Amino acid sequence: MKNFKKSGINLFIFLIAIAAVFLLGSSLISTGSNDSISLYPHSNGRTCGTVEFNELQMKQHPEFRINRTRIEEFAKNYSMPQNRSVITIPVVVHVVYNTQQQNISETQILSQIDVLNQDYARLNSDTTQTPEVWKPIGANSQIQFCLAQRDPSGNQTSGITRTQTSITEFTGSNDQRIFFTAQGGQDIWDRDRYLNIYVCNLGGGLLGFAQFPGGNPQTDATVNLYTAFGTTGVVQPPYDKGRTVTHEVGHWFNLFHIWGDEPDCNQDDEVSDTPLQGNSSSGCFTFPHTDACQPNSPGIMFMNYMDYSNDACMNLFTQGQSTRMNAALNGPRASLLNSNGCIPVGIIPISNEIPTEFSMGQNYPNPFNPSTSIKFSVPKASFITLAVYDVSGKIVKTLVNENVNAGIYKVDFSAGDLASGIYFYSLYTEGRLIDTKKLMLIK
Ligand SMILES: [Zn+2]
Repeated sequence: MKNFKKSGINLFIFLIAIAAVFLLGSSLISTGSNDSISLYPHSNGRTCGTVEFNELQMKQHPEFRINRTRIEEFAKNYSMPQNRSVITIPVVVHVVYNTQQQNISETQILSQIDVLNQDYARLNSDTTQTPEVWKPIGANSQIQFCLAQRDPSGNQTSGITRTQTSITEFTGSNDQRIFFTAQGGQDIWDRDRYLNIYVCNLGGGLLGFAQFPGGNPQTDATVNLYTAFGTTGVVQPPYDKGRTVTHEVGHWFNLFHIWGDEPDCNQDDEVSDTPLQGNSSSGCFTFPHTDACQPNSPGIMFMNYMDYSNDACMNLFTQGQSTRMNAALNGPRASLLNSNGCIPVGIIPISNEIPTEFSMGQNYPNPFNPSTSIKFSVPKASFITLAVYDVSGKIVKTLVNENVNAGIYKVDFSAGDLASGIYFYSLYTEGRLIDTKKLMLIK
């Protein structure tokens, strides 16, 4: 009995121990596997859904395929002018989040805009890593980016929208809910005036995807995984240098993957100064790296932004790619050249101090020629109108007619071709007159 009892206890302890080891073991395996999924979701390499997304779009919108042919023809015949000025593209970042972690910080967003401005101007610090043989064709595209200063209605904006969604994961490049407020995403801003960059929990193993020029205006954007965005915050290696967005914006400007999207040496990226390449690269090759299409040094250009190398191993666009992007900017995306999205709204806040009441100051200088400025104070966010009248009471200029936040503002008034004489200016809030003052133009 004693022995049996003792051995029974031993057996019991033994079974518990086995169960404990098993449970602990399986919980370790499970935790480990979850951690590895959440920390390194793309440990098998970079994946971009652009090709699949555009194929689907062309099926759903047959005119897109026709536009593509025309756009390719334009790109082939485009030659870059000698003297170009820098073009600044207004950007809106749409953060569509389910968890607070996905609601990335403004700092993280700004770090991504910085990377775009460096990479597209070839001011990135790792240009030194570009092999000597390709340094001469490393390109400054002269394309720059600003976070939008005014929204599609003309109101002041941070260039960032934030939308909470019940969608825990957008399932991939076939999931278009991200583009529609009514479906748990965020409606696009006019693609003719803004580059729309979506940030979300993108699934399907994707880091991002983008629409080529010529497609549906409602989806003409780039979509990016929130952990492969910018260089700080919740960004995760090896996609922590902002190069996913550099790559996706390249697609948005009509760049193809450097290997031409077919695993052979026939399909090209339509850029003459990038070497033919059989397939995508992954991780971080050591230069020179050769393949069947480039059997000899210098081999393939795996450090090009349009390849699949890790962020830290990418460092150039070529002159040919820059020409293609500028072709897009002078063809299907030419309307961006006229966008006022980067220009702050006409009133400039001159103080963060919150005034206690609406008021308007004397214009200075007065008398004036050719311009003067008018200060006014707004105690709470309001719709403000500031208008200039001639002596007959006719409005000659509306200086402000928009929603503004509380603050002290200054707005400039230029005489233009107005005649010398006496004028009046009035400040209204929600249509209610606050004050009227006189100004004198002497030409
Ligand atoms: Zn891609």
